[in-house]
Amino acid sequence: MKRILITGAAGFLGSHLCDRFIKEGYNVIGMDNLITGDLKNIEHLFPLENFKFYNHDITNFIHIPGDLDYILHFASPASPIDYLKIPIQTLKVGANGTHNCLGLAKAKNAKILIASTSEVYGDPLVHPQTEEYYGNVNSVGPRGVYDEAKRYQEAITMAYHTFHKVDIGIVRIFNTYGPRMRLNDGRVLPAFIGQALRGEDLTVFGDGSQTRSFCYVDDLIEGIYRLLHSNYHAPVNIGNPDEITILDFAKEIIELTGTTQKIVYKDLPKDDPLKRQPNIEKAKRILGWEPKVDRKEGLQITYEYFKSLPMNVIRDLNH
Ligand code: NAD
Ligand code: UDP
Repeated sequence: MKRILITGAAGFLGSHLCDRFIKEGYNVIGMDNLITGDLKNIEHLFPLENFKFYNHDITNFIHIPGDLDYILHFASPASPIDYLKIPIQTLKVGANGTHNCLGLAKAKNAKILIASTSEVYGDPLVHPQTEEYYGNVNSVGPRGVYDEAKRYQEAITMAYHTFHKVDIGIVRIFNTYGPRMRLNDGRVLPAFIGQALRGEDLTVFGDGSQTRSFCYVDDLIEGIYRLLHSNYHAPVNIGNPDEITILDFAKEIIELTGTTQKIVYKDLPKDDPLKRQPNIEKAKRILGWEPKVDRKEGLQITYEYFKSLPMNVIRDLNH
């Protein structure tokens, strides 16, 4: 049985990765310090013999007894309000946390795949974004703590590959959504659905003409699974190229939820990227991957999930 360590296991993406690798018959070790994650996302795995959980901050030395075949390094705050609240931890997990994961991969002769992000392209001047684009990031702006941590993460991962011959994969993830997102994580989809469920107006930032391209979580997990099992080492974009303005997205959520609330406009946060859309030609060519779930279907599943939460959770913005 192959053994895999998943950092950030109690988070949105980490928990879906745990499910997938358990389903594929792996021995899964989840690790998380719960700074933005929630044990509820993985508690269904606790009774399983092939699942183990360590509550550990990976910016400290990581000790795993026994052999390890793979590491999926997904620990990091990921939503703008999270990394604005905990900027130093964000930098530390991207830098020291990644360094520890790479050291562990080297010691165990394990393959490591790191979660990078479309944010390495910053507010992009090339559209759609290809992996060859170097990006447009304001290192000292509010998002710099996340963007530069992720750029450093890519650099140190590539250095371990070229210098120490560690086997690596780098996935640049574009906006992903699905069940287990936190309703109060500030990202646009839980923000809009949460507002609709609480009977509040939907807050569009700026004039809503900025674009994003939303990928359903199952599609992303499939892309990551394929990348891990490929022998490609350079960064690969995984995302759904179906681009939409935030204003149109708000209208879709109004239709989906049937809310009678209206759209209200708030200031656009500083350095909020104006456009974002992945070019996925590389993923198609190398992994034979493309997204299968369209937004209508993915939003419906996600809405059902949020609706099923207890009302006190939906109302609790500190959850
Ligand atoms: P999330 O906040 O739900 O999950 C991150 C997890 O990492 C949390 O459970 C948190 O407690 C844990 N964590 C943070 N710092 C830690 C530390 N020092 N030690 C141990 N655990 C720690 O976020 P997510 O959306 O699941 O994102 C997971 C990864 O994917 C992140 O690396 C993020 O940058 C990347 N990513 C996500 C998206 C997206 O759309 N969700 C897009 C691009 C990149
Ligand atoms: N956004 C918005 N209203 C909200 C939350 C977000 O209009 O209540 C906008 C935000 O300004 C950005 C887009 O939605 O342009 C996506 O934001 P999110 O935080 O989900 O992700 P990111 O900016 O990291 O892509």
